[in-house]
Amino acid sequence: MSNKNWYKGNLHTHTTESDGDAEPQHVAEWYKEHGYDFLVLSDHNHLTVLDDSDGHPGKWPLLIPGEEITSRLFNNTVPVHVNGIGVKSLVEPAAEESARKTLQENIDRIRAAGGLASINHPNYKWTLTTEDIVETTGAWAVEVYNGHTGSNSNGGGGSPGVESMWDAALTAGKRIFGVATDDSHHYIQEFNAQLENPGRGWVVVQADEFSQVNLMESMSAGAFYSSSGIVIDDVKVASDEIVIEMAPYDSEKFTTVFFGEGGKQLSVEHGQSVRFVPPSTEKYVRATVYSSRESFRAWTQPLFRDA
Ligand SMILES: [Zn+2]
Ligand SMILES: [Zn+2]
Repeated sequence: MSNKNWYKGNLHTHTTESDGDAEPQHVAEWYKEHGYDFLVLSDHNHLTVLDDSDGHPGKWPLLIPGEEITSRLFNNTVPVHVNGIGVKSLVEPAAEESARKTLQENIDRIRAAGGLASINHPNYKWTLTTEDIVETTGAWAVEVYNGHTGSNSNGGGGSPGVESMWDAALTAGKRIFGVATDDSHHYIQEFNAQLENPGRGWVVVQADEFSQVNLMESMSAGAFYSSSGIVIDDVKVASDEIVIEMAPYDSEKFTTVFFGEGGKQLSVEHGQSVRFVPPSTEKYVRATVYSSRESFRAWTQPLFRDA
């Protein structure tokens, strides 16, 4: 559908420069070996930069500088974490009197440092509420999926999942995207569901050229989809139509739900290729794809009618 290329990346990654169990070089090599085109090393309050001038080009994915700005409020019972993607300098974490004010200050500091601010795992220790996300400004994205075992992305027990928090922010008129990330920490032991292993959540970005500048521009504009396991061949999100073409693994089947204002379901489609004409009455329209395999999902970015 487009001659722009798609590039796979992970936006949230830890190494031994904070609480990960492998050196940055090892982590970068893991992602390269597993088909990732770019990677953001996002250690807690540390800008991890690898020097690839040692004559081994192609050994790592393209590395976009990043940092998980990590505020540990009230003896770390309230962890406010925001990823700064593409920050040009180290950002110090804020410590305001509330989670919401701390979140806002961290977002503002990331933007001042030239980065895209992604609100991380709002339901980790149930730190952020829907209102916190609706009432803050300037965030580029929220983690609709985070591979950390404590992220509680789906909500439950009377607490909303991040996807419905995202819908609330979109309904309030926020231009905010949904990202899926690994939040990986563990690369050394045998992988299992109790560990924070890599490869669980990623984004695929459509860009004119493969460069940090182009990837950042495309991410900033929402030219990407997010996935926790579904592979998509092509996506078109436009005011005349939304088209999604999945690439099934073996006998995998798909259900795609199109959502509008208030998170209401506009349409449910089955099949490997789906097309939907977004009604002009909706402030935004977005899609979630559900797989028959495990609980894999994928998310398109919203079509904004006011754009
Ligand atoms: Zn975190
Ligand atoms: Zn993290």
